[in-house]
Amino acid sequence: MKTPTHHHGNKFSSFFCNLFGHHYVVSKKVTEHIKEYKCLHCGKEVTTDASGQLSVLTPEMQDINSTLADMYRKRRGRQVQHVA
Ligand SMILES: [Zn+2]
Repeated sequence: MKTPTHHHGNKFSSFFCNLFGHHYVVSKKVTEHIKEYKCLHCGKEVTTDASGQLSVLTPEMQDINSTLADMYRKRRGRQVQHVA
């Protein structure tokens, strides 16, 4: 048995997530490959990092993501003329 050292969200939700895994939904699309996710049950937030893995959404990661999103939007803006 492992004892939780800390918990986020309410206890029942964390318990549920421990049993069944987090139920992440996309909370923000950063780029084609990078998205931010939030767990419906416990509210835990994660994001896709540079290596394509999910990692905890820290303020630093949010900062990086908003910069990426900005660059992504500008680049798409230039390419979008081809479509339509
Ligand atoms: Zn969860």
